[in-house]
Amino acid sequence: PVPVSVLGVRVDRITQQQVLDYIIERIVTQQQSTLLCQQIITVNPEFVMAAQRNSDFLTCINQAALVVPDGIGIVWAARYLGRPTPERVTGVDTVVALARRCAEAGYRLYLLGAAPGVAEIAASRLQELAPGLQIAGTYAGSPAASEEETILERISNARADILLVAYGAPAQDLWIKRNLSRLPVAIAIGVGGTFDFLAG
Ligand code: UDP
Repeated sequence: PVPVSVLGVRVDRITQQQVLDYIIERIVTQQQSTLLCQQIITVNPEFVMAAQRNSDFLTCINQAALVVPDGIGIVWAARYLGRPTPERVTGVDTVVALARRCAEAGYRLYLLGAAPGVAEIAASRLQELAPGLQIAGTYAGSPAASEEETILERISNARADILLVAYGAPAQDLWIKRNLSRLPVAIAIGVGGTFDFLAG
């Protein structure tokens, strides 16, 4: 279906299942022929408000490979606009479901961001929820430009398929966008407070 535009922000009308299928298919294609990393953004109402004041963020969202309807306010807005989304797709649920798909298929996740130590705990929790999941690596780092080379090198050495970035919006999404052409993964997703949530 045609995406819905919420105050100029594109939102794709997709289910969690479709998001997962898209990611897995992209990894498979990536392994056959080297493709650039693709960006996935999970949009909630705060993103829409922030994008009104930040045109780089607006462009970043609208150019992403997938814009996922996170946040019940987005689901309501889409319905009101006559282009309903099939369901709400929350970041945390999607990460857990993705971890299970990755565990089955042997695909590797890299967890970047959050306070030092949090990504490690979140990774263990994901491995409990998705037995057999391979964690390619974890690193807190920071979204500062001065750290980009270090981070890219770490991710590259880790041979990950999917990168989850927890630097909060819009920093995480702009970080991914800025590094998209150099990220050695099939898919990168901004996940906000997901690691904190998983780490409890
Ligand atoms: N964060 C970080 N470095 C920063 C800014 C934020 O690692 O420079 C992390 C923070 O520790 C938290 C996440 O980014 O784990 C942002 O969570 P928040 O709930 O603020 O994000 P939201 O879901 O609101 O986008």
